[in-house]
Amino acid sequence: MKCSKCGAKAVAWLPASNAAYCKKHFNYYYERKVKRLLPKMLDQKKDVVGVGVSGGKDSLVMLWLLHKNRFNVVPILVDEGIKGYRDKTIPYAEKLCRELGLELHKVSFREEYGKTLDEMVKEGGRNACSYCGVFRRDLLNKTARRLGCTKLAIGHNLDDEVQSVLMNFFRGELERIARGGPVTGIIEDPKFVPRVKPLRMCSEKENVIYALINGIEYSDIECPYATTAYRGVVRDAVNMIESRYPGTKISILRTSDRLVEILRRELKPEGGLRYCSECGEPSAEKVCKACQFRNEIF
Ligand code: SF4
Repeated sequence: MKCSKCGAKAVAWLPASNAAYCKKHFNYYYERKVKRLLPKMLDQKKDVVGVGVSGGKDSLVMLWLLHKNRFNVVPILVDEGIKGYRDKTIPYAEKLCRELGLELHKVSFREEYGKTLDEMVKEGGRNACSYCGVFRRDLLNKTARRLGCTKLAIGHNLDDEVQSVLMNFFRGELERIARGGPVTGIIEDPKFVPRVKPLRMCSEKENVIYALINGIEYSDIECPYATTAYRGVVRDAVNMIESRYPGTKISILRTSDRLVEILRRELKPEGGLRYCSECGEPSAEKVCKACQFRNEIF
């Protein structure tokens, strides 16, 4: 297969754009897509960007690209305490941070909440992803705020974004859809560090290719709890449709972004963001989800 741009040996075939690219032109295509999005999310001169890293491909490619584009980055790693998984991915995050000369800020569920995710799953009645999502969001926000970050970059790729949109849609969770989009959050608040997703237009496959051709080493171990996730069912369904109708994922995301604008106007809460009556953190409910879960488990 030959590059559609220059005729050199292609390293990737992208059905959605009906094009094959060599290493040079794939990098150009990929980086241009990310660079077009960055000014809508981040101010290169002003923002201190907390970067959530895990050791997987998405977060490490994101850190690499933000660093390459001279953003002021602060890598943050949340160790949930998943035996045989997180302990295997952390060294990859540490290695890239060392190579880029960045300090990696590590925080953990055990230190913050007194239990690992494995222990929470054993003792609580919910599935792992429910605890993981809520506590990781809580801990990332608190850590980014403590470190003086003005934005928090999350390595969600196109596939993650589309799955989240559809899951929220299937569950009828309009508020969650409204909180999505390129910059999350319906309203601004000093206690809430807005989240941005620089790779949201890049598919999982594109991130793998970018990491491989640029020598970014990452862990490809899958979380042992991933098989139980509802997300997996949605992922398989979307992949099946995308394989028959390339471009479906991008189309879903663009439609969702238009919906987000409309929903934010409709759903903007009066009187600003609420705070949890127990821990004081920003919350959509009287008691935040993290405190609700903590009360159940401890
Ligand atoms: Fe957490 Fe679930 Fe993802 Fe595993 S699959 S890292 S438990 S959200």
